[in-house]
Amino acid sequence: MTENPETRRAGHAAQEGPGTAGEREAHRPLLVCTPLRAEAQAVRRGLRDSAKAAGGVSGADAPSVLRTGYGAARAASRASEIRHLPFGMLAIMGTGAGLAADLRPGDLVVAAEITGAGPAGPQGTAAADDAGAVAPELPGTAGTGAGRTAVRCPSAPLLAGELRRAGLRARTGTVVTVGHLVGRAEREKLARAGCALADMESAPLAAAGGGRPVAVVRAVSDTGALLRPGTLTGGVSALRSLRAAGPVLSRWAAACGPRRVLLAGPRSFCAGVERAIEIVERALEQRGSPVYVRKQIVHNTHVVADLEQRGAIFVDELDEVPDGASVVFSAHGVSPAVRAEAARRELSVVDATCPLVAKVHAEARRFAGEGYLVALIGHEGHEEVEGTLGEAPGSVVLVQDSDDVAKLRPRDTGKVAYLMQTTLAADEASEVVDALHEAFPDVRGPGSDDICYATTNRQRAVRAVAADSDLVLVAGSANSSNSRRLVETAERAGAPAHLIDGPDDIELGWLAGAGTIGLTAGASAPPSVVEDIIAALGGLGPVEVSERVTTTESLRFSLPKEVRQ
Ligand code: SF4
Repeated sequence: MTENPETRRAGHAAQEGPGTAGEREAHRPLLVCTPLRAEAQAVRRGLRDSAKAAGGVSGADAPSVLRTGYGAARAASRASEIRHLPFGMLAIMGTGAGLAADLRPGDLVVAAEITGAGPAGPQGTAAADDAGAVAPELPGTAGTGAGRTAVRCPSAPLLAGELRRAGLRARTGTVVTVGHLVGRAEREKLARAGCALADMESAPLAAAGGGRPVAVVRAVSDTGALLRPGTLTGGVSALRSLRAAGPVLSRWAAACGPRRVLLAGPRSFCAGVERAIEIVERALEQRGSPVYVRKQIVHNTHVVADLEQRGAIFVDELDEVPDGASVVFSAHGVSPAVRAEAARRELSVVDATCPLVAKVHAEARRFAGEGYLVALIGHEGHEEVEGTLGEAPGSVVLVQDSDDVAKLRPRDTGKVAYLMQTTLAADEASEVVDALHEAFPDVRGPGSDDICYATTNRQRAVRAVAADSDLVLVAGSANSSNSRRLVETAERAGAPAHLIDGPDDIELGWLAGAGTIGLTAGASAPPSVVEDIIAALGGLGPVEVSERVTTTESLRFSLPKEVRQ
């Protein structure tokens, strides 16, 4: 096992590590800026609701709410005072004008980026540098004569996800701060530029965060033609949403602080998944859209959504595929009955079954042909299991646990064999294997361990990081068997662990007090999701990232001849 000596840092205060200024700031309270009196009242009530539910927070730890006044000029003037105040994290809450077509009054927009007019000078510049972005030229943003500010809030997906779990309608987006009232034409232009919501204060206030965690939550008060003070204060449903967001904001503040992320290596895509995705990509390139794919090509929502956008059509069964069309079989494999149906329908098939799954199918046929009863250790309903069962329906029987082993009634107790689903947890399968050996001393196993190299490697790697982590996060979709097994493996190693499809699935309560987070990804989860999670955690404070590598992988599978050219 090697500990990657190269650590990297992420987050607003990336220049600071745990135990430095970032740690000191984390112990300081939350400061909430709200422009108008009605907004301040709603937010105070929401924070009080939260404190009551938590048994009361008082003194230096209590969040403070500061009314900053209406408009960009007042906000810019208050911003220069705010940056000298003692606070650990900054939130800007208020109402705003919805620009995106899907927004309606009362919806919350959590800023992933704030752009627009802001204070000139070193603070504004520093914020823009942290963000690594330059504000685009936008209409209505140059009215104050002050500089332009772009601030990113990387923790926005975490906050928006938590707001949705609290029952609120919330999305992330770009919030643009405008220096003057904008009419319908300007609003349409801002929407076309990708802005979700317009306000008149967030940009200069967010820049006052000075590298500390910043959150901007704006409730849509109107989606009409003009941005006016009357509409900003008038949205009852917007104020109700702001109040309801108070407890969530408290959880966001409690989750802020410096932390370490310990990456498990290897993680993410295996050779079988890379091959399956490349097969669909090549089929699309060579045959054009649409290319049909039976079942999810791999069990991951991001991979499926990406391929769908590029022209793949995912179907559950072949009767949804037009006669003569191109169809790809997924990495999990299919039964001979599905192959026969595709041939009867004269479909042009490209088989993306992982070669390691195909090996299990071949062993099932071999054992069945020799008269063995084959116990297939796996999970009911999984596509891979269904495909293997279909290889010899009379001879292959699913066993999920040792109770199922006790129910086996072979014709010849000397002719029992077992095979395994490739994505099982190694220690989970070994219990059933032991039960089989006890019940049938002559039981035969597969030639080599059927739990694939990628599953074994990822489980070993997550065990190595779980031992030193307060919390383990596993990137992967809910229907990904190998990702779920990683959660179980981490839990067995003693760490609380959760499966997440992306950053917005992370519950803020998990993060409070979690100084070291182990992070891995199932074999079907793209590496970009891991990067998104690290970026989101970096929005809560400085993050030091290191990698613990238990083994390196170099295996690649060749492509089928149909797409090899
Ligand atoms: S996890 Fe193993 S069996 Fe499954 S696709 Fe990857 S390499 Fe193949």
